[in-house]
Amino acid sequence: MGEVAAAQELRITEIFLSIQGESASVGWPTVFVRLTGCPLRCVYCDTTYSFTGGELMTLEAILDQVEAHGVSHVCVTGGEPLAQPECLDLLTALCDQGYQVSLETSGALDISRVDPRVMTVMDLKTPSSGEAHRNLLSNLAHLKPTDQIKFVLAGREDYDWAVDQLRQHDLASKAQVLFSPVFKDQSPADLAEWILHDKLPVRMQLQLHKLLWGEARGR
Ligand code: SF4
Repeated sequence: MGEVAAAQELRITEIFLSIQGESASVGWPTVFVRLTGCPLRCVYCDTTYSFTGGELMTLEAILDQVEAHGVSHVCVTGGEPLAQPECLDLLTALCDQGYQVSLETSGALDISRVDPRVMTVMDLKTPSSGEAHRNLLSNLAHLKPTDQIKFVLAGREDYDWAVDQLRQHDLASKAQVLFSPVFKDQSPADLAEWILHDKLPVRMQLQLHKLLWGEARGR
């Protein structure tokens, strides 16, 4: 990493070690780097504390903190991490250091310049989020088979909408598709029954970290 890149700064809400609760990396001890700021306001957002505040950190300081946790998986999340352009350099720097890197993004910002070594977990925002109009469908062309498209579902209306998107855009041919119930709002058992009834090519998932620790921050 050159001197200029190392001196770059990003606004960071928190860096912490936890168990990855979602996506294809579920269960791995993972360092989470939560970037501050998000241009969306999803109704069910569980990280509103990341909208403002945070601390400016150099890329170098972030890499040092990540290294101090001593695990091989790193998840860059938010907020919406891509709202800070320097996020792209952070992702590349983490890949260069040999980490298995994932990115959690809202699907509202362009992912085309994300380092191809990164596993991107991209939301398609459902109607109940209040932000479905922000979905940037051009992103679908930039997904790899190892990436994931995540639907967070808060009821039957969201489910029906997601099934429609799945079929209309042939999403299962582009990436792994994840169906995840909103914690406390959508019965996981009902969602499982619907998926089985419709024989959908999707992976259902529960948020493991919330089963372990509830909605505690930094977990
Ligand atoms: S995109 Fe994520 S961080 Fe932003 S409002 Fe929606 S759920 Fe919250």
